[in-house]
Amino acid sequence: MKTTTDIVIIGAGPAGMAAALYASRAGRETVIIEKYYPGGQAFQTFHIENYPGVKSIDGPGLSEVMSEQATSFGAKLLIQEVKTLDLKANPKKIMFRNGDELEAKAVILAMGAQPKHLDAPGEVEFTGKGVSYCATCDGAFYRGKEIAVVGGGDSALEETMFLTRFASKVTIIHRRNEFRATQIIQDRIKKEAKVSFLTPYIVKEVLGEEKMTGLQLINRETNEEVFLPAAGVFVYVGYAPQTELVEGLVELENGYIVTNETNLATSVPGVFAAGDLRVKNLRQVVTAVADGAIAAVSADHWLDQQES
Ligand code: NAP
Repeated sequence: MKTTTDIVIIGAGPAGMAAALYASRAGRETVIIEKYYPGGQAFQTFHIENYPGVKSIDGPGLSEVMSEQATSFGAKLLIQEVKTLDLKANPKKIMFRNGDELEAKAVILAMGAQPKHLDAPGEVEFTGKGVSYCATCDGAFYRGKEIAVVGGGDSALEETMFLTRFASKVTIIHRRNEFRATQIIQDRIKKEAKVSFLTPYIVKEVLGEEKMTGLQLINRETNEEVFLPAAGVFVYVGYAPQTELVEGLVELENGYIVTNETNLATSVPGVFAAGDLRVKNLRQVVTAVADGAIAAVSADHWLDQQES
């Protein structure tokens, strides 16, 4: 069955949900498509304390409120996986993996980003058997155990703080002696008795039998190798934009979508982009929701122009 809607938003992270809120409040028939569940990366964040107006909240809590608010003005949330897009057609076409199809007069791309991998031997083999990319999801499995976290950014250090609730010891492995995480987070983590640091080390291999048992590490200055026993490792080495769906369809720069800074228009008329998948300097919940609002208002204005 084919139906045409005014604005289709792909991705229900904070950017997509803010876009749905603004598009539906502008009176546009709006559909927001999500592969799994609303929230995006924010859903997997243990603690958010830099979203203005909300002193402190957990990621799932914020995602739930955003999702309820996004759909309360009529936007429809569709849990489906998009397979391909035809963005040049008029109306634009969204083809789903199950064979369904949807048409949209305007599209907002808000697929966000996904965790990067270490690309170390054993990483894929032990994913789900020790290797994890989500402390909120898997942290409780490591109660009383010694574990590791890889990375030196805000995610690595913040999620380490969460993991100290369960683990008996958390070793942070970072490839440099300096951390890029925000100073306040660095100061907090250094006071944690359960946390120790191994720098400048990289992971050479994830080792184990049925489950992971530890990490073989290499010192980047001396090339010395050490084995760190660990029941689990949480990998926080950054995020990559989820833009495979639009490769060759809109202009990309290093995998990120290029947008006009004023209205978040992409290289294709009627297609806008919001959140972590676009070229920008600061990727946070607060900048994602701002993007969503701008992209939705821009799509609304663009539709006004087409209709006049
Ligand atoms: P990030 O800031 O890009 O940090 C990634 C870390 O992983 C860096 O320390 C990097 O080392 C290291 N790394 C990258 N590739 C590696 C590899 N192959 N092997 C080992 N280490 C590797 O990523 P993030 O921490 O996920 O943060 C992403 C964005 O979200 C940032 O803008 C961050 O500020 C934001 N964020 C904010 C908050 C908050 O405000 N509360 C919380 C979470 C995330 P180098 O330092 O040597 O490059």
